[in-house]
Amino acid sequence: MIDYISQMLLKLKTKRAKSFLVFFFLLVFLSGFSKFSGFNRIEQTPRKNLNSANMFAFLKGKDKQNLEKSVTLIVDDVVFKNQTQAVSLEDYLLENKIDLKDDMILSHSLDTLVQSNSVFTVEHLNEHYRYEEVEIPIATEYIYDCDLLVGIERVEAQGQKGLVKNVYKQQFFGTELYSDQLAEEIELKKMEPKIIRAGSKTSLMTPEGSVIEFTRAAVLSTTGYCSCYQCCGKNPGDYGYGITASGLPQGVGVVGVDPRYIPYGTKMYVEGYGYAVAGDTGGAIIPNHLDLGFETHDDAIVWALRNSWVYFLID
Ligand SMILES: [Zn+2]
Repeated sequence: MIDYISQMLLKLKTKRAKSFLVFFFLLVFLSGFSKFSGFNRIEQTPRKNLNSANMFAFLKGKDKQNLEKSVTLIVDDVVFKNQTQAVSLEDYLLENKIDLKDDMILSHSLDTLVQSNSVFTVEHLNEHYRYEEVEIPIATEYIYDCDLLVGIERVEAQGQKGLVKNVYKQQFFGTELYSDQLAEEIELKKMEPKIIRAGSKTSLMTPEGSVIEFTRAAVLSTTGYCSCYQCCGKNPGDYGYGITASGLPQGVGVVGVDPRYIPYGTKMYVEGYGYAVAGDTGGAIIPNHLDLGFETHDDAIVWALRNSWVYFLID
């Protein structure tokens, strides 16, 4: 071919024609060289956006050694360490066969890039049960009885405390409590109520033949007293002799009470004594005790100490 070109050059008579031919061959030579050199191929590599995923795809197989990353994965407090080429946390979890479910909490979002020495944690929801025994206090039930005087109560059953076992379902992510709810109540011992028969009878006829209406009937201890020195520590002529603490004159129908429990002015009917009003008090008076007023010391002595039905009258 060289000989052919030399002959062609010799045959060309003009200098301009020779120059043109040299230029032509030079052009053909250069175009052939460029095809072998690979310059064009590099220029033609598409310069699209090289994000992490296609960067990885682009480099895959070229430089695997540099893409191995040491990662620490902690699943429910169990620590794993391994090498990965995964780009995102999602890829990494799938690579490690960890199903992505709703009942798990990740330390990082799924699109987090895996770096060398990354530490990721995965915590699954786990359930535990806790138990609690609770005592059920005795409830009181009343049975009203119109044959029984109001204020009188009779215990018919003492009752017994109940016992319930409460089962709570707890949910944890790792060691962190997520929920704690009552799941079941198991009755271990049934509560039995205390049953009281309560009187609702509010009126009756006295032995003297009058009907009394009352709000409460009770059996109280009663004694008798008069105005004498032995009973009250005062002699006729002393300041306050014969006058009760409420100002009423001492005598039949005025009774000494503990006014913290039975206020002055409270009207009552005392069986065997008759109608009375609370009007006096004294050092020896105790709650639920009446000191009944008498005209003479002998009458007071005769009464002595006895339990009496007392009816607190409707005003
Ligand atoms: Zn007396």
